[in-house]
Amino acid sequence: MSGLQNPIFHDESKARKWLEAQIWPDGPVCPHCGSYEPTALKGKAHRPGLYQCNEKECRQQFTVTVGTLFERSKIPLGKWLMATYLLSASKKGMSTRQLSRMLGVSVKSSWFMMHRIREAMREGKAGPLGGQNKVVEADETYIGGKAKNRAFGPPPKNEAVVALVERDGSVRSFHVESVNAKTLRPILVAQIDRASFLMTDESAVYTKTGREFKGHGTVNHSIKKYVRGNFYHSNTVENYFSILKRGINGNYQWVSAKHLKRYLGEFDFRYNTRDVTDFERTAIAAKGIQGKRLTYRRPDIGANV
Ligand SMILES: [Zn+2]
Repeated sequence: MSGLQNPIFHDESKARKWLEAQIWPDGPVCPHCGSYEPTALKGKAHRPGLYQCNEKECRQQFTVTVGTLFERSKIPLGKWLMATYLLSASKKGMSTRQLSRMLGVSVKSSWFMMHRIREAMREGKAGPLGGQNKVVEADETYIGGKAKNRAFGPPPKNEAVVALVERDGSVRSFHVESVNAKTLRPILVAQIDRASFLMTDESAVYTKTGREFKGHGTVNHSIKKYVRGNFYHSNTVENYFSILKRGINGNYQWVSAKHLKRYLGEFDFRYNTRDVTDFERTAIAAKGIQGKRLTYRRPDIGANV
């Protein structure tokens, strides 16, 4: 990945300036009170990038990472940006160990950086998928269950994932307890515009809810899609699942049910930004660090990270 040569990954001052430009396109804004035009505190007495909110406002000090997912981290900003880039640019994701090696940070640090970056990639509220003359494919798959490198104990349970993909549009995927009409309906009706044409397999779990949409087509997997021409297929969602499964099975040996949602968010994010460059995708993820906080208790290392 030649993009790794970018100075923002190696020079703290450039990293900070780049992040400031992403977070504050119109100049620095106080994260405490929202006012503009703070004073930049310069000189050796202050850490670089420190601002003070102005006299008439709250007067508190801040840097660009205050109130973001990168706040209070001892890891240099350049490494945060490099990690964001690596996760944005790797189509199938990246393992915690690989990221740890590439950044030169501990596996523990790599783990919590990745979770923060996934949170940054999480989309805010968006309108429903589909609409008039749009097709939304819905399908389910199962993740996990046959983890390699697991010599002892029973294999982890398979986790059900439902994905909705608008053709030529975005994907949204969800971890569900089990796949049935009762668990799927609330997701389908909340996430898909009723004016859409819904495309699913012939499973009975979609039959009743399918009637709530403008149209509902079904694909018979056993006959194969070509039989019914170009319209009645679920190739879009199947392609999405294929990337997701290769990524999760290849990189993430222990995706626990608790964190699956975050991994899905990561894969959804990359899919939904597939038309931009890796670097542009990194910038979108970097903007997503604002106004979010995460604290995790990771039981196996007994630490709050
Ligand atoms: Zn302020």
